[in-house]
Amino acid sequence: MKLEQILHKEELTKEEIIFLLNLTDNNDQQKLFDRADEIRSIYCGNEVHLRGIIEFSNYCEQNCLYCGLRKSNSKLSRYRMTPEEIIETARVISNQGIYTIVLQSGEDNYYDTDLIAYIIYQIKQNTNAAITLSLGERSFNEYREWKIAGADRYLLKHETANHDLYSVYHKKQKLEDRLSHLSFLKTIGYQIGSGNIIGLPMQSVEDIADDILLCKKLDVDMAAFGPFIPSPDTTYKNKTAGDVDLTLRTMATARIVLKKVHIPATTALATIDDEGRIKGLNAGANIVMPDLTPSPYRKLYQIYPDKKCINDNPLNCKGCLQLQIEAIGRKISSSRGDSLKLVEQMKD
Ligand code: SAH
Repeated sequence: MKLEQILHKEELTKEEIIFLLNLTDNNDQQKLFDRADEIRSIYCGNEVHLRGIIEFSNYCEQNCLYCGLRKSNSKLSRYRMTPEEIIETARVISNQGIYTIVLQSGEDNYYDTDLIAYIIYQIKQNTNAAITLSLGERSFNEYREWKIAGADRYLLKHETANHDLYSVYHKKQKLEDRLSHLSFLKTIGYQIGSGNIIGLPMQSVEDIADDILLCKKLDVDMAAFGPFIPSPDTTYKNKTAGDVDLTLRTMATARIVLKKVHIPATTALATIDDEGRIKGLNAGANIVMPDLTPSPYRKLYQIYPDKKCINDNPLNCKGCLQLQIEAIGRKISSSRGDSLKLVEQMKD
């Protein structure tokens, strides 16, 4: 089948997804990006939503082979922000006109059910922002408590849809568990985000096709595809980074397959390519997730090295992004940017 036909099909088979992911000719690749951009504009419009991330703790009880926060990494200086620091940072972010706060950390049970609930409640009292939690796998009861406290969304990337590779990368953790957590979160009313890492050792293009199809099956509200970046003091420190073009093809193909979802131009993509954010926004993405963790902590959240904008003052971030986004004819949204599926349901 011709490329043009595939790009205009309503439903894509796995073989067709693999075909798109494998495109090598520059013109063909550009056709894929242009079609994704067109579908993005139909379903998401021209607005780009910002999600301000507060990385409030780099302690982690897991040992993911690719991640610099892994428990066995004794070289990393660990920090925990106080609840007051987190709440104050959220207030500053929302005062800048950024209406999603992402609370992210390693898996750190120091912040127990009540402490996280308190932080959520206080942020909701003090801002108009939506709250996304990205705390890794916690108990079902905690998810419930935090929903009641006011959390809106949960970001938990499945990382890879390949069961065997998942067990290799995560040792103690199982893909089935991750997926049951995502389904539960959705059932109790969270907007959910998932996604993968592109270019992890041993991953095939077929695995990436499965990642896209898994996002479809989970009916995610956001799908994040970011390149692997080798991190020092991890098992995979000497492995090759994920490929920029393959990441862009994955995002574009995901836009064509998933349509009404939020897709971020990830910080990892911006880190390995100076133009990564703009390339991503032109290939199907409609979200940017700036790291707004205050100093001195921001330098220490080293999931991978040399993170984009790590030495910048987070207060300058929105202005800087605004210039870049407006330069490509888009604009920063002043809404919370809830699930496109939810917005649709409320209209019905
Ligand atoms: N503890 C939380 C947040 C983890 S960090 C959780 O488990 O969900 C956020 C994301 O960083 C992870 O989901 C993973 O996809 C990504 N990540 C970690 N190490 C990475 C690396 N070396 N390269 C690229 N992305 C990485």
